[in-house]
Amino acid sequence: MGMKYCPQCRAVVLTKALQNYSQVVINGVPGKRRKIIHLEEDGGCGHSWYTVELLEEVLDRN
Ligand SMILES: [Zn+2]
Repeated sequence: MGMKYCPQCRAVVLTKALQNYSQVVINGVPGKRRKIIHLEEDGGCGHSWYTVELLEEVLDRN
């Protein structure tokens, strides 16, 4: 569970993770990818999508 931006609702909403993180590398930057959903039972739209989270220190490196 967490607050995420839902591209369908165009708002920050309560979301639920559908699976555990998987490690990914995008443009040489390591990140954590997972699928999340805006649950209808939580009053959401039912839309699911992928998010990638990066380490803040990776972003600071530039
Ligand atoms: Zn939504």
